[in-house]
Amino acid sequence: RAKADGRNAARFFDPSMQDAADHRAAFDASMRNGLSMGQFRLFCQPQFDTRGRLVGAEVLLRWQRDDDLIGPEHFIGFAEESGLILPLGEHVLEESCRALARWQHDPALARLKLAVNVSVHQMRDADFPAAMATILDGTGAPAGRLCLELTESVFAENMLEITHRMHEICSQGVSFSLDDFGTGYSSLAYLKRFPLSALKIDRSFVHDIGIDPGSGSIVEAIIALAHKFKLDIVAEGVEDEAQRRFLVKGGCSSMQGFLLGRPLPMAEFEQMYRTAGSGVVS
Ligand code: C2E
Ligand code: MG
Ligand code: MG
Ligand code: MG
Repeated sequence: RAKADGRNAARFFDPSMQDAADHRAAFDASMRNGLSMGQFRLFCQPQFDTRGRLVGAEVLLRWQRDDDLIGPEHFIGFAEESGLILPLGEHVLEESCRALARWQHDPALARLKLAVNVSVHQMRDADFPAAMATILDGTGAPAGRLCLELTESVFAENMLEITHRMHEICSQGVSFSLDDFGTGYSSLAYLKRFPLSALKIDRSFVHDIGIDPGSGSIVEAIIALAHKFKLDIVAEGVEDEAQRRFLVKGGCSSMQGFLLGRPLPMAEFEQMYRTAGSGVVS
């Protein structure tokens, strides 16, 4: 771009900007290469019901770049800006559906649901429902076991279009949950307008349960709201026994957090939770 602008380029780029742009371009290229090399790995964090039974897992993406394991907060935003989020998100869905299909063969894993984070950029893509259908078809995954997690930012978009797209995906048997509930531009109208199956209480509220009585009240209010709207409720970031007890007593349907289980590489997750002695997962 700078070259094409010829003699005007200097007006737009000082050397430090050029450095930043070069750095950015190199990072984008490295991510693109990483995707083609299979460096983006799925981790799974177990989710449990109030009786402590495993009910599913959330898929959390990591970038294994040589010896570095890079967390999503360092690359998802860049992937959204560059557009790589579309093929990257498709990779996550494809691998998740492959896992669901594979799990059908193990009694302990076959009942689990898998929650996959989906970016607003994916929901903006008119081809997304068709891509989802192709992945379900190609992998043979049971669609009813797949749940897509959206954040409230999705609802700042063209509402009609997003609602329509969600219904298209729901008609394939896939469900939706609203992630990080309470942190965004929460409007109760969303709960009525969009086809949602669950709310996830953001971990910041869970974190403050024992510390700040206000947070406990917020959690109770969110749970009551979810019940009113017939939504399941998943609490994230459960780190201690007091939080767990508070959530169980409050009527939260399921939960995840370091107290109950850390995110594990997909293969380790399968190893850990599959039916003891079954050799199905290789
Ligand atoms: P999220 O969907 O809200 O995921 C929950 C985050 O909380 C995860 O961080 C998880 O490791 C962390 N967590 C779980 N339990 C605990 C706990 O007890 N204590 C604490 N302090 N943290 C806990 P992670 O894996 O770094 O993911 C961060 C965010 O990155 C996710 O937030 C999600 O928004 C995004 N993300 C992850 N994978 C994907 C993906 O495949 N696609 C997209 N679009 N976004 C993703
Ligand atoms: Mg999530
Ligand atoms: Mg969350
Ligand atoms: Mg969160």
